[in-house]
Amino acid sequence: MNQKGKLVIITGPSGVGKGTIVKSLLAKNPQIFLSISATTRLPRKGEIDGKDYYFLSRLQFEEMINKGELLEWAQYAGNYYGTPIKPVLEKIEQGKTIILEIEVLGANQIKNNFSSATRIFILPPSIEELEKRLRERNTDTEEVIIKRLNKAKEELAVSEEFDYQIINDNLDLAITEIEEKINNVI
Ligand code: 5GP
Repeated sequence: MNQKGKLVIITGPSGVGKGTIVKSLLAKNPQIFLSISATTRLPRKGEIDGKDYYFLSRLQFEEMINKGELLEWAQYAGNYYGTPIKPVLEKIEQGKTIILEIEVLGANQIKNNFSSATRIFILPPSIEELEKRLRERNTDTEEVIIKRLNKAKEELAVSEEFDYQIINDNLDLAITEIEEKINNVI
């Protein structure tokens, strides 16, 4: 029988460690793939177009929205972010597992148009720790950090609506817990 693949959503506030968690999951599980998002945000130092994100102009992004080429999209801290639909459907058709590392509004859209998706929310040990991590990351201006922290507070308020909540205090423990949840659905 041709078994269909699974869609796993990893969400949580900016700075909570989603990127690190996802990298480790991919390294350990060759059957898991990561969806590459489109964004209008400028590349950070070291980020590569087509690998980290598809970096687009606002016009290009809006064209993708209008053509129905995005599975979900949202505005976040002044920029557009969205998931190109085609690679996701292809992987699922091939029986693979695909992870979307996205923010909360996008994750909610997935709930509406892809009800079988498993949605995992990553929590920081505390809001103070999250602020510390955002500052230590040293990638954003003060203005952007404040925007991201305000957004984080809104996001944390709806974490209970997700299928699973995992606290990223000890990274290895968090990864093991997430693997357990994902393996249940693979
Ligand atoms: P960053 O600018 O730090 O790379 O990402 C900002 C936020 O946008 C993060 O919470 C990240 O998970 C989220 N994000 C990245 N790609 C997508 C996407 O395709 N769709 C949505 N809705 N959010 C995304």
